[in-house]
Amino acid sequence: MIVKRAEFEISAVRPAQWPNDGLPEFAFVGRSNVGKSSLLNRLLSRKALARVSQKPGKTQQINFFVVNEAFRFADLPGYGYAAVSKTTRAQFSKMMGEYLTQRTPLKRVLHLIDIRHEPTADDQFMHAELMQLGVPLCVVATKSDKISRGQHRAAVQRIEKILRTPYAVVPVSSQTGAGINDVWTMIEADLET
Ligand code: GDP
Repeated sequence: MIVKRAEFEISAVRPAQWPNDGLPEFAFVGRSNVGKSSLLNRLLSRKALARVSQKPGKTQQINFFVVNEAFRFADLPGYGYAAVSKTTRAQFSKMMGEYLTQRTPLKRVLHLIDIRHEPTADDQFMHAELMQLGVPLCVVATKSDKISRGQHRAAVQRIEKILRTPYAVVPVSSQTGAGINDVWTMIEADLET
């Protein structure tokens, strides 16, 4: 994919603010600090379009980015940050539920999991919820540069097993760019269907 244009559109706190022109959309979900902003920036070849956050779990909005005026990325808030209050958690669940069940142009959800660690209880819960929705998924195993190439296969298998997922697990590194083309290939294929 050649990214000619990538623009941040809006940080939406409620559904009325979601862009509604029907462009196909890809949503990015993951635990705080998993590397979601870094992945978005890498995919879009922009240094700081999506913020690389110092304060995980702070944002409770959905950030929308339009790419090449042809499709959209939706950056959903990170989950699993211990310091967020119960109220914030409740708002978070409501917003995620609304988005994932109501967003008609949604083509696929990319669920980010840190390749180095066993998926957490929150990761497992989120993946189970996503599978229930029936929307196509993909697991992106982030920070693949942090383990050696020889360890990738075992790490991918561990993620597959713990999440009990039938979906592809794609190792990527936003630092080196490894695997970024694999993510684009999948997005391109989705856009053609
Ligand atoms: P977010 O909270 O999910 O948006 O995560 P960030 O993109 O802010 O990344 C969290 C931390 O992980 C930052 O310190 C990043 O520099 C680091 N990070 C993200 N992606 C990678 C990667 O592919 N490789 C390495 N080595 N570090 C990464």
